[in-house]
Amino acid sequence: MTKPPLTLYLAAPRGFCAGVDRAIKIVEMALEKWGAPVYVRHEIVHNKFVVDALRDKGAVFVEELDECPDDRPVIFSAHGVPKAVPAAAAQREMVYVDATCPLVSKVHIEAQRHADNGLQMIMIGHKGHPETVGTMGQLPEGEVLLVETVADVATVEVRDPSRLAFVTQTTLSVDDTADIVAALHARFPGIVGPHKEDICYATTNRQEAVKAMAPKCDAMLVVGAPNSSNSKRLVEVGTRAGCNYAQLVQRATDIDWRALEGITSMGITAGASAPEVLITEVIDAFKDRYDTTVEMVVTAEENVEFKVPRVLREPA
Ligand code: SF4
Repeated sequence: MTKPPLTLYLAAPRGFCAGVDRAIKIVEMALEKWGAPVYVRHEIVHNKFVVDALRDKGAVFVEELDECPDDRPVIFSAHGVPKAVPAAAAQREMVYVDATCPLVSKVHIEAQRHADNGLQMIMIGHKGHPETVGTMGQLPEGEVLLVETVADVATVEVRDPSRLAFVTQTTLSVDDTADIVAALHARFPGIVGPHKEDICYATTNRQEAVKAMAPKCDAMLVVGAPNSSNSKRLVEVGTRAGCNYAQLVQRATDIDWRALEGITSMGITAGASAPEVLITEVIDAFKDRYDTTVEMVVTAEENVEFKVPRVLREPA
């Protein structure tokens, strides 16, 4: 049977970012250095495939520090942790390695600096996301106010409107965040913050690539996990940029082929925590069914790399 023709657009950049790459390396190097088991507080990055592969090598994933024994190393996930977590590990004299992405740590430092200058903090982020919990947890409970939407800005109650600063989650929608930042500046003209927001290079670049790719595509798939913030944002960005059907899939078996009937162009991208092997699997599934022509949509080149913590670079 002849296969129908399909132009497959591949967004670039897509998939792994430097922070995810580093976090996975940290777990692998910790397993090499200390042997199994090594405990990891929270999914190291939001991807089941990555977590399962590390579990097979001897990583034990837990939600809270009190699930870890005192005498085994523990790693904190790329999303960052409230200050109380490393403090508790230190008190128990545990060996711990912080895999918080340096771009998230930078936001933590900003939040602390503003608080030290006597400013009340507002965080733009998603309630309950581990990164938001970690950043808000840099300051005492109740000190950081969370806003998720423009509507929240109108109702947030602050101590002193002239003594305010804001930080953001790193994986938000660039466009939605710009609206929220504008609303903050309109209501609190003196508010201090980053130049635009704290959204990281990887989130920005992946959204830009999707904006360029989406208008060419009858449908678009984002390879990523349902709990991955930056992956979910890519689906939203794709839909807004003019693609009628944008869906999140974890791997090829999730593809709803019936929904894709009649398409002649398809876009594929992946969130920052999705490994390339899963993207290849999805591409191969299309090649099996269609006479495929692959075209890259390149909007940026990335060469960011982060070092792993010194404790892992030193011999055991
Ligand atoms: Fe770091 Fe951005 Fe990757 Fe998050 S998405 S781990 S902030 S580089």
